[in-house]
Amino acid sequence: MSCRRIDELQSRSLAVASGEAGPWSWARQRPPNGAPRGGAGGSGGDGWGRGGGRTGGRGGGEAKELVLGSYQRFSKRAGDLVGEFFEKPWIDAALGDHKRGGAFCMGATPSYHPFVMMNYTGKLNDALTLAHELGHGLHDRLASKQTIFDYHPPLTLAETASVFGETLTFDRIMAEERDPAIRLSMLCDQVEGAFATVFRQVSMNRFENAVHTRRRTEGELSPEQLGEIWQEVLQPMFGDSLELTEDHKPWWSYVGHFYFAPGYVYAYACGNLLALSVYRPYHEPGPPFVSRYLEFLAAGGSARRAVRV
Ligand SMILES: [Zn+2]
Repeated sequence: MSCRRIDELQSRSLAVASGEAGPWSWARQRPPNGAPRGGAGGSGGDGWGRGGGRTGGRGGGEAKELVLGSYQRFSKRAGDLVGEFFEKPWIDAALGDHKRGGAFCMGATPSYHPFVMMNYTGKLNDALTLAHELGHGLHDRLASKQTIFDYHPPLTLAETASVFGETLTFDRIMAEERDPAIRLSMLCDQVEGAFATVFRQVSMNRFENAVHTRRRTEGELSPEQLGEIWQEVLQPMFGDSLELTEDHKPWWSYVGHFYFAPGYVYAYACGNLLALSVYRPYHEPGPPFVSRYLEFLAAGGSARRAVRV
Protein backbone atom coordinates (compact mmCIF):
# COMPACT_ATOMS: atom_id res chain seq x y z
CA MET A 1 0.00 0.00 0.00
CA SER A 2 1.68 3.16 -1.11
CA CYS A 3 -0.55 5.51 0.81
CA ARG A 4 -1.67 5.38 4.36
CA ARG A 5 -3.47 8.65 4.51
CA ILE A 6 -6.47 7.27 6.27
CA ASP A 7 -6.07 8.89 9.66
CA GLU A 8 -4.75 12.02 8.05
CA LEU A 9 -7.82 12.34 5.86
CA GLN A 10 -10.26 11.51 8.57
CA SER A 11 -8.84 14.35 10.59
CA ARG A 12 -8.90 16.82 7.74
CA SER A 13 -11.80 18.70 6.29
CA LEU A 14 -12.01 21.70 4.09
CA ALA A 15 -14.25 24.36 5.52
CA VAL A 16 -15.54 25.37 2.13
CA ALA A 17 -16.37 21.82 1.32
CA SER A 18 -19.07 21.71 3.92
CA GLY A 19 -20.52 25.05 2.88
CA GLU A 20 -23.61 25.40 0.79
CA ALA A 21 -22.27 27.89 -1.70
CA GLY A 22 -19.90 27.45 -4.57
CA PRO A 23 -19.41 24.80 -7.17
CA TRP A 24 -17.91 22.36 -4.70
CA SER A 25 -20.99 21.78 -2.61
CA TRP A 26 -22.03 18.87 -4.75
CA ALA A 27 -24.77 16.67 -3.46
CA ARG A 28 -23.71 13.60 -1.59
CA GLN A 29 -24.88 10.61 -3.49
CA ARG A 30 -24.89 7.04 -2.41
CA PRO A 31 -25.13 3.96 -4.53
CA PRO A 32 -28.40 2.07 -4.38
CA ASN A 33 -28.57 -0.32 -1.46
CA GLY A 34 -26.99 -3.60 -2.34
CA ALA A 35 -25.46 -2.29 -5.54
CA PRO A 36 -22.12 -3.91 -6.17
CA ARG A 37 -19.14 -1.63 -6.12
CA GLY A 38 -16.70 -1.82 -8.93
CA GLY A 39 -16.73 -3.39 -12.31
CA ALA A 40 -19.97 -1.81 -13.39
CA GLY A 41 -18.76 1.74 -13.77
CA GLY A 42 -18.57 3.35 -17.15
CA SER A 43 -15.84 5.68 -18.26
CA GLY A 44 -17.83 8.11 -20.32
CA GLY A 45 -19.69 11.28 -19.44
CA ASP A 46 -19.32 12.54 -15.90
CA GLY A 47 -18.75 9.13 -14.41
CA TRP A 48 -15.26 7.92 -13.70
CA GLY A 49 -13.67 5.08 -11.87
CA ARG A 50 -15.23 1.97 -10.56
CA GLY A 51 -18.87 2.63 -10.01
CA GLY A 52 -18.14 5.89 -11.79
CA GLY A 53 -21.73 6.57 -12.76
CA ARG A 54 -22.59 6.68 -9.08
CA THR A 55 -19.86 8.96 -7.87
CA GLY A 56 -21.66 12.22 -8.07
CA GLY A 57 -22.80 13.25 -11.56
CA ARG A 58 -21.61 16.74 -12.43
CA GLY A 59 -19.24 16.82 -9.49
CA GLY A 60 -17.41 13.71 -10.64
CA GLY A 61 -16.86 15.27 -14.05
CA GLU A 62 -15.57 18.50 -12.58
CA ALA A 63 -13.20 16.72 -10.23
CA LYS A 64 -11.90 14.62 -13.10
CA GLU A 65 -11.32 17.68 -15.26
CA LEU A 66 -9.72 19.56 -12.40
CA VAL A 67 -7.31 16.80 -11.42
CA LEU A 68 -6.58 15.33 -14.82
CA GLY A 69 -6.23 18.82 -16.31
CA SER A 70 -3.68 19.71 -13.64
CA TYR A 71 -1.55 16.70 -14.49
CA GLN A 72 -1.91 17.32 -18.23
CA ARG A 73 -0.78 20.91 -17.84
CA PHE A 74 2.26 19.71 -15.97
CA SER A 75 3.19 17.08 -18.52
CA LYS A 76 1.42 15.35 -21.39
CA ARG A 77 3.03 12.05 -20.45
CA ALA A 78 1.93 12.36 -16.84
CA GLY A 79 -1.54 13.36 -17.99
CA ASP A 80 -1.79 10.34 -20.29
CA LEU A 81 -0.76 7.96 -17.51
CA VAL A 82 -3.18 9.51 -15.02
CA GLY A 83 -5.92 9.52 -17.65
CA GLU A 84 -5.72 5.73 -17.87
CA PHE A 85 -7.01 5.44 -14.32
CA PHE A 86 -10.25 7.08 -15.42
CA GLU A 87 -10.52 5.24 -18.72
CA LYS A 88 -9.92 1.66 -17.59
CA PRO A 89 -11.29 2.25 -14.81
CA TRP A 90 -8.83 1.71 -11.97
CA ILE A 91 -10.54 3.89 -9.37
CA ASP A 92 -13.10 2.74 -6.82
CA ALA A 93 -14.67 5.96 -5.61
CA ALA A 94 -18.35 5.22 -5.05
CA LEU A 95 -19.70 5.35 -1.52
CA GLY A 96 -20.94 2.14 0.03
CA ASP A 97 -22.66 1.26 3.27
CA HIS A 98 -19.92 -1.12 4.35
CA LYS A 99 -16.99 0.42 2.55
CA ARG A 100 -13.97 1.40 4.60
CA GLY A 101 -13.12 5.06 5.00
CA GLY A 102 -10.08 6.99 3.81
CA ALA A 103 -8.17 6.53 0.61
CA PHE A 104 -5.14 4.74 -0.75
CA CYS A 105 -3.40 3.68 -3.93
CA MET A 106 -2.29 0.08 -4.14
CA GLY A 107 0.49 -0.82 -6.52
CA ALA A 108 1.13 -4.55 -6.24
CA THR A 109 3.62 -5.55 -8.93
CA PRO A 110 5.34 -3.83 -11.89
CA SER A 111 3.45 -5.99 -14.37
CA TYR A 112 0.01 -5.16 -13.01
CA HIS A 113 -1.55 -1.71 -12.79
CA PRO A 114 -2.30 -0.05 -9.43
CA PHE A 115 -5.78 0.61 -8.05
CA VAL A 116 -7.06 3.69 -6.26
CA MET A 117 -9.60 3.38 -3.48
CA MET A 118 -11.35 6.42 -2.07
CA ASN A 119 -14.76 7.69 -1.00
CA TYR A 120 -15.94 10.43 -3.29
CA THR A 121 -18.57 12.73 -1.80
CA GLY A 122 -18.22 15.67 -4.15
CA LYS A 123 -16.27 17.89 -1.80
CA LEU A 124 -13.30 19.93 -2.83
CA ASN A 125 -11.15 17.95 -0.44
CA ASP A 126 -12.11 14.80 -2.32
CA ALA A 127 -10.70 16.31 -5.51
CA LEU A 128 -7.43 16.93 -3.67
CA THR A 129 -7.51 13.40 -2.32
CA LEU A 130 -8.01 12.12 -5.85
CA ALA A 131 -5.02 14.17 -7.00
CA HIS A 132 -2.99 12.79 -4.08
CA GLU A 133 -3.79 9.15 -4.79
CA LEU A 134 -3.25 9.56 -8.53
CA GLY A 135 0.19 10.95 -7.70
CA HIS A 136 0.94 7.58 -6.13
CA GLY A 137 -0.60 5.93 -9.18
CA LEU A 138 1.59 7.96 -11.53
CA HIS A 139 4.64 7.03 -9.47
CA ASP A 140 3.74 3.33 -9.72
CA ARG A 141 3.10 3.48 -13.47
CA LEU A 142 6.37 5.27 -14.15
CA ALA A 143 8.29 2.78 -12.00
CA SER A 144 6.70 -0.22 -13.71
CA LYS A 145 9.88 -0.85 -15.74
CA GLN A 146 11.69 -1.72 -12.52
CA THR A 147 11.90 -5.22 -11.12
CA ILE A 148 9.64 -6.22 -8.26
CA PHE A 149 12.51 -5.54 -5.86
CA ASP A 150 12.93 -1.94 -7.01
CA TYR A 151 9.34 -1.15 -7.97
CA HIS A 152 8.22 0.35 -4.67
CA PRO A 153 9.81 3.64 -3.65
CA PRO A 154 11.57 3.77 -0.28
CA LEU A 155 9.54 5.08 2.61
CA THR A 156 11.27 8.44 2.45
CA LEU A 157 9.86 8.98 -1.06
CA ALA A 158 6.52 7.25 -0.61
CA GLU A 159 4.57 10.50 -0.24
CA THR A 160 6.54 12.67 -2.64
CA ALA A 161 4.64 12.13 -5.89
CA SER A 162 1.29 12.25 -4.10
CA VAL A 163 1.86 15.55 -2.34
CA PHE A 164 3.40 16.98 -5.50
CA GLY A 165 0.30 16.02 -7.50
CA GLU A 166 -1.98 17.39 -4.83
CA THR A 167 -0.07 20.67 -4.91
CA LEU A 168 -0.45 20.89 -8.69
CA THR A 169 -4.22 20.69 -8.29
CA PHE A 170 -4.32 23.01 -5.29
CA ASP A 171 -2.37 25.70 -7.14
CA ARG A 172 -4.66 25.43 -10.12
CA ILE A 173 -7.73 25.91 -7.92
CA MET A 174 -6.13 28.89 -6.21
CA ALA A 175 -5.21 30.41 -9.55
CA GLU A 176 -8.79 30.16 -10.81
CA GLU A 177 -10.79 30.81 -7.65
CA ARG A 178 -11.90 34.43 -7.26
CA ASP A 179 -14.06 34.21 -4.14
CA PRO A 180 -11.92 35.57 -1.26
CA ALA A 181 -13.85 33.51 1.31
CA ILE A 182 -13.11 30.28 -0.53
CA ARG A 183 -9.46 31.25 -1.07
CA LEU A 184 -9.08 32.03 2.62
CA SER A 185 -10.72 28.75 3.54
CA MET A 186 -8.36 26.85 1.26
CA LEU A 187 -5.31 28.55 2.73
CA CYS A 188 -6.53 27.81 6.26
CA ASP A 189 -6.90 24.19 5.27
CA GLN A 190 -3.33 24.17 4.02
CA VAL A 191 -2.11 25.55 7.34
CA GLU A 192 -4.14 23.00 9.29
CA GLY A 193 -2.91 20.30 6.94
CA ALA A 194 0.70 21.30 7.59
CA PHE A 195 0.04 21.11 11.33
CA ALA A 196 -1.55 17.67 11.00
CA THR A 197 1.07 16.37 8.60
CA VAL A 198 4.27 17.84 9.95
CA PHE A 199 3.97 18.82 13.63
CA ARG A 200 1.56 16.11 14.63
CA GLN A 201 3.25 13.27 12.78
CA VAL A 202 6.63 14.29 14.21
CA SER A 203 5.11 14.25 17.69
CA MET A 204 3.66 10.83 17.07
CA ASN A 205 7.01 9.62 15.84
CA ARG A 206 8.58 10.87 19.06
CA PHE A 207 5.94 8.97 21.01
CA GLU A 208 6.78 5.78 19.13
CA ASN A 209 10.47 6.32 19.67
CA ALA A 210 10.00 6.89 23.39
CA VAL A 211 7.75 3.85 23.75
CA HIS A 212 10.05 1.45 21.90
CA THR A 213 13.12 2.79 23.70
CA ARG A 214 11.53 2.34 27.11
CA ARG A 215 10.20 -1.08 26.14
CA ARG A 216 13.72 -2.19 25.33
CA THR A 217 15.19 -0.83 28.53
CA GLU A 218 12.34 -1.34 31.03
CA GLY A 219 10.41 -4.27 29.63
CA GLU A 220 6.66 -4.46 29.02
CA LEU A 221 4.83 -1.14 29.46
CA SER A 222 1.34 -0.80 30.88
CA PRO A 223 -1.44 1.16 29.16
CA GLU A 224 -1.10 3.68 31.97
CA GLN A 225 2.60 4.18 31.17
CA LEU A 226 1.83 4.49 27.48
CA GLY A 227 -0.72 7.17 28.34
CA GLU A 228 1.83 9.06 30.39
CA ILE A 229 4.35 9.03 27.55
CA TRP A 230 1.61 10.14 25.16
CA GLN A 231 0.86 13.15 27.34
CA GLU A 232 4.51 14.03 27.84
CA VAL A 233 5.30 13.95 24.15
CA LEU A 234 2.21 15.62 22.76
CA GLN A 235 1.80 18.44 25.25
CA PRO A 236 4.77 20.44 23.86
CA MET A 237 3.11 20.40 20.42
CA PHE A 238 0.41 22.71 21.79
CA GLY A 239 2.65 24.82 24.02
CA ASP A 240 0.62 26.79 26.54
CA SER A 241 -2.33 27.16 24.18
CA LEU A 242 -3.93 23.90 25.28
CA GLU A 243 -3.74 21.71 28.33
CA LEU A 244 -4.08 18.01 27.70
CA THR A 245 -6.29 16.51 30.39
CA GLU A 246 -6.62 12.97 31.75
CA ASP A 247 -9.25 12.24 29.10
CA HIS A 248 -6.59 12.58 26.43
CA LYS A 249 -4.41 9.89 27.97
CA PRO A 250 -5.79 6.79 26.23
CA TRP A 251 -5.92 8.40 22.78
CA TRP A 252 -2.64 6.89 21.67
CA SER A 253 -4.68 3.74 21.12
CA TYR A 254 -6.65 5.12 18.17
CA VAL A 255 -3.61 5.54 15.90
CA GLY A 256 -3.62 2.40 13.79
CA HIS A 257 -0.15 3.08 12.44
CA PHE A 258 1.34 2.26 15.86
CA TYR A 259 0.10 -1.32 15.37
CA PHE A 260 0.16 -2.06 11.65
CA ALA A 261 3.01 0.15 10.47
CA PRO A 262 5.35 1.01 13.36
CA GLY A 263 7.78 3.76 12.50
CA TYR A 264 5.80 4.89 9.45
CA VAL A 265 4.33 8.21 10.54
CA TYR A 266 7.52 10.20 10.05
CA ALA A 267 7.15 9.53 6.30
CA TYR A 268 4.18 11.90 6.18
CA ALA A 269 6.22 14.78 7.53
CA CYS A 270 9.29 13.88 5.49
CA GLY A 271 7.32 13.32 2.27
CA ASN A 272 5.33 16.50 2.65
CA LEU A 273 8.37 18.68 3.18
CA LEU A 274 10.32 16.92 0.45
CA ALA A 275 7.50 17.27 -2.09
CA LEU A 276 7.18 20.97 -1.39
CA SER A 277 10.92 21.45 -1.72
CA VAL A 278 10.85 19.58 -5.03
CA TYR A 279 7.85 21.64 -6.15
CA ARG A 280 9.66 24.93 -5.73
CA PRO A 281 12.20 24.44 -8.55
CA TYR A 282 9.29 23.62 -10.86
CA HIS A 283 8.39 27.31 -10.71
CA GLU A 284 11.92 28.62 -10.89
CA PRO A 285 14.12 29.14 -13.92
CA GLY A 286 16.74 26.48 -14.40
CA PRO A 287 17.32 23.18 -16.13
CA PRO A 288 14.22 21.45 -17.53
CA PHE A 289 12.37 20.23 -14.46
CA VAL A 290 9.55 18.02 -15.77
CA SER A 291 11.65 15.37 -17.50
CA ARG A 292 14.03 15.12 -14.54
CA TYR A 293 11.14 14.78 -12.12
CA LEU A 294 9.46 12.02 -14.14
CA GLU A 295 12.80 10.25 -14.45
CA PHE A 296 13.19 10.49 -10.68
CA LEU A 297 9.78 8.86 -10.15
CA ALA A 298 10.53 6.18 -12.75
CA ALA A 299 13.52 5.08 -10.68
CA GLY A 300 11.08 3.71 -8.09
CA GLY A 301 13.29 2.28 -5.35
CA SER A 302 16.16 1.41 -7.66
CA ALA A 303 18.42 4.36 -6.97
CA ARG A 304 18.17 4.62 -3.22
CA ARG A 305 21.92 4.60 -2.73
CA ALA A 306 22.82 6.88 -5.61
CA VAL A 307 20.13 9.51 -5.28
CA ARG A 308 20.44 12.16 -2.65
CA VAL A 309 17.43 14.38 -2.63
ZN1 LIG B 1 -0.28 9.28 0.26
